[in-house]
Amino acid sequence: MVCAQDVHKRYGRDEVLKGIDLDVAPGEVLCLIGPSGSGKSTFLRCINHLEKIDAGRLSVDGELIGYRERGDLLYEMHEREVCRQRASIGMVFQRFNLFPHLTVLENIIEAPLHVKRESKAEAVERARALLQRVGLREKADVYPSRLSGGQQQRVAIARALAMQPKLMLFDEPTSALDPELVDEVLAVMRGLAEDGMTMIVVTHEMAFARDAGHKIAFMDGGVIVESGPPGEVLSRPRHERTQAFLARVI
Ligand code: ADP
Ligand code: MG
Repeated sequence: MVCAQDVHKRYGRDEVLKGIDLDVAPGEVLCLIGPSGSGKSTFLRCINHLEKIDAGRLSVDGELIGYRERGDLLYEMHEREVCRQRASIGMVFQRFNLFPHLTVLENIIEAPLHVKRESKAEAVERARALLQRVGLREKADVYPSRLSGGQQQRVAIARALAMQPKLMLFDEPTSALDPELVDEVLAVMRGLAEDGMTMIVVTHEMAFARDAGHKIAFMDGGVIVESGPPGEVLSRPRHERTQAFLARVI
């Protein structure tokens, strides 16, 4: 579903991604861990067109991100195609970014109505089903400010799912939450994983990475230092940098 080959990204002179190679199969959950500043968010942002890569190849579901290939040449994609690609990838951030002037239901149907041009009846029906799925059926008509952080984040997940994405990206979705609200969000993410959603999750929740992740990749200094099944990476890390990081967070 996701394939990165030698992906590079720099900001000015600062090379932030120094050759990322990564594969995520359909239905797989990849947990991306690593210290602050290692390039985790930048990598997710490249997948979702929020940043452009400088070199390498990055594709989702067999399509290059942002480029069309003709023969040996790459052409930048038309804005319309960028929108189409972006609409098929859901992203959930640390901050929930719900529209404060819209109700929960209105937040969820906004993109299906205006980006996908779905009928209101169809969008509302799916939104209600998604609210049920994230355990917030009775909150359809309230405004985000009336919800806890955990509830807001679950709405943000429902909002991303409303676009029926083939891939979900999570960037530290529980880092801004009070500790007692973390589990309700992780439970929703576990459910998604069990339903076969392909996910890349940047997280410091090692218990989640261990039991919900199919694969863990440890990033440091713009490279993937090691990756593999959670049991291996977390219990028997091969690299010193991974060992040092895990010693701090576990
Ligand atoms: P992480 O998510 O692993 O904490 P980031 O991807 O946010 O790491 O950042 C990686 C590096 O890139 C950091 O050194 C950060 O300061 C730098 N960086 C991130 N975004 C920008 C930007 N828009 N402009 C310049 N530097 C940036
Ligand atoms: Mg980050």
